[in-house]
Amino acid sequence: MIAALRGTSVPARSRLYRSAPWGDPRQPDFINAACLVRTSLAPEVLLDELQGIEAALGRVPGPRWGPRRIDLDLLACEGAVMDTPRLTLPHPRFLERSFALLPAAEVWPDWVHPAAGKTLEELARTLAFTTVAEPIE
Ligand code: AMP
Repeated sequence: MIAALRGTSVPARSRLYRSAPWGDPRQPDFINAACLVRTSLAPEVLLDELQGIEAALGRVPGPRWGPRRIDLDLLACEGAVMDTPRLTLPHPRFLERSFALLPAAEVWPDWVHPAAGKTLEELARTLAFTTVAEPIE
């Protein structure tokens, strides 16, 4: 569905990663993946489109850390550092979450995180995480 957006293609997708739920442990494991998106859409417009896809896939409002059918986040957009009420880039919890960083490092290993000053490949190798995410495919 992302690749079908206007002016957009998806050149790479990571493996799927499974991690134990956090927040409320009485819910199933989470499955995460990252994809590399090439697009002519501005970051805010891409976010609108991702939220449209979430709605089309049946996401309904629920508790913040609770189970959800789908959750699409923008982890980073090349060259974009911003903090507006709608959109923070890079994603503020990107580096704390192995289930975000490990798959992102698969699809964009040489991207330098502006706050850390290191590539995703380097960060994925060296950061210590509180959650464990294992590739399942
Ligand atoms: P979520 O519960 O993960 O779907 O996120 C809810 C809200 O986070 C959305 O309404 C977005 O406006 C906001 N948001 C801020 N920064 C980001 C980002 N980098 N990616 C996705 N959503 C974001």
